[in-house]
Amino acid sequence: QPISVPPELTIFRSKLPDIPLPNHLPLHTYCFEHLPECRDLPCLIISNSGNTYTYAETHLLCRKAACGLSKLGIAKGDCVMVLLHNSAEYVFAFMGASMLGAVTTAANPFLTTAEILKQFKSSGAKVIITHAAYVEKIRNIEGLTAIVTVDEPPQGCLSFSHILENDAKLEEVEIDSEDPVAMPYSSGTTGLPKGVVLTHKSLISSVAQQVDGENPNLYVKRDDVLLCVLPLFHIFSLNSVLLCALRAGAAVFIMPKFEINTMLAGIEKHRVTIAAVVPPLVLAMAKSPEVEKYDLGSIRIVLSGAAPLGKELQEALRNRLPQAVFGQGYGMTEAGPVLSMCPAFAKNPTPAKSGSCGTVVRNAELKVIDPETGFSLGRNQPGEICIRGPQIMKGYLNDPEATATTIDIEGWLHTGDIGFVDDDDEVFIVDRVKELIKFKGFQVPPAELESLLINHPSITDAAVVPYVQKHIPLILFFPTFSYSFSKNLCNIFFFSFCGYNRQIDEAAGEVPVAFVVRTNDSDITEEAIKEYISKQVVFYKRLHKVYFIHAIPKSPTGKILRKDLRAKLAAASAAA
Ligand code: AMP
Repeated sequence: QPISVPPELTIFRSKLPDIPLPNHLPLHTYCFEHLPECRDLPCLIISNSGNTYTYAETHLLCRKAACGLSKLGIAKGDCVMVLLHNSAEYVFAFMGASMLGAVTTAANPFLTTAEILKQFKSSGAKVIITHAAYVEKIRNIEGLTAIVTVDEPPQGCLSFSHILENDAKLEEVEIDSEDPVAMPYSSGTTGLPKGVVLTHKSLISSVAQQVDGENPNLYVKRDDVLLCVLPLFHIFSLNSVLLCALRAGAAVFIMPKFEINTMLAGIEKHRVTIAAVVPPLVLAMAKSPEVEKYDLGSIRIVLSGAAPLGKELQEALRNRLPQAVFGQGYGMTEAGPVLSMCPAFAKNPTPAKSGSCGTVVRNAELKVIDPETGFSLGRNQPGEICIRGPQIMKGYLNDPEATATTIDIEGWLHTGDIGFVDDDDEVFIVDRVKELIKFKGFQVPPAELESLLINHPSITDAAVVPYVQKHIPLILFFPTFSYSFSKNLCNIFFFSFCGYNRQIDEAAGEVPVAFVVRTNDSDITEEAIKEYISKQVVFYKRLHKVYFIHAIPKSPTGKILRKDLRAKLAAASAAA
């Protein structure tokens, strides 16, 4: 056997020079560092209420939230669970918890009781902050010391505004840069959702990589207004919209839910300059006839992230907003989350190539490895993307094994994404080797569905893989539908990400499909299995299809051979 010699390590870095990262500070101190100069500037603009909070008001309410949470018994090291749609209270609660040295774990309020319970227990949360409409789902959770609602509190709950009504003096808490501050849940490259420990240092590093330092194309500047319609419970919105804006002293236009006319009117009225979006929203902006009715000329950057964006769509939006620089960001919760981004990181603000995810962030290293050998690959060679830098997670909560398989001993975080870096240092994502299924921006962890399936008495084994739905050519869609239908269609596309629509649409990108082995005597049907799953999971994890097979293909070590199943699926759908 010839011995293969590892090639020289190729490390890709930003085109911009590294900058000093003030990541010894607590996150709230870093984000409000420019408060003295920004006191009277608008900070949060709330779309439904029309309320605007200045930086001084926002900062004060965050401090009051900290005092109120402290009165509820929250202290350094504790965890607060937030089940909220985008709102000012989200910001106050998150920053308030940070000021106490506590950590926030946020989740989609549409999760089922069982899903919320898992995250609640695993995170060790004590208090849940939510909307009155979701209280019945969580009321009986054991170990919950208080439920706080941001609207009229049902019996037995506290009101968030009451929490804010206090004149208590906030005791300064000593915070270490390695203390956790945010704990989103992610399945990572394999298995069930796990608590991703993001420290003060991780988030400051990531925000600084995006908005600090000298750079003429800076992603966020003080006079920017950012569209915050993506859910803050996802790290993309929390980090690249809210935290980046606060750090820069920019304003955030907060929308609790998507409605195309409200969004477009808000962009026009508040002169939104940066629109952070996901592919379904790009679709809405590129294709909806409503867009023509509004002046969107204020937008200078459109940044799409969280899921792959088709070139066709990218070009369609570029044509509609010619004044804006358009680009993608590539992120992963565990990476803090931003790995690469355009256009802010290009020295030269020429538009990034279609399909490009920009260049790697500053103060970080990116490499591409052969997934089989682990050897470093050079330019234009697709392989697994790995990232190293101060912004990546500390690890998974209470899961050293999963942490060790994701972050190697040299500190490289293995993303499970396949991509390459081209001659201009631009990153392209072409495939995914990890199990994860992404329904638009949402995570659908196969292991979670598999464990539910295997729990069914009529099922002996199961595996879940993505079925990749081809985008239905948009050109065929829009002219043929009435004005109101196309408006509705945009809602369906976008709400899928935000969680406001409960139906799985026909252009979801990836949807979960199950292969199931029934017990000998069972004749359980596809419909019964789908229903069994639907009752236990949030709408976007529902099974799209169930196939019955005799055995799940597995490797000698017992690993599901997902590639084989994906091939079976491709064959089955080609034959259909
Ligand atoms: P999450 O942790 O929920 O943010 O999901 C991270 C995963 O989403 C990544 O590992 C990728 O598989 C996918 N992803 C995020 N951004 C992009 C992008 N711009 N292009 C392609 N895939 C993306």
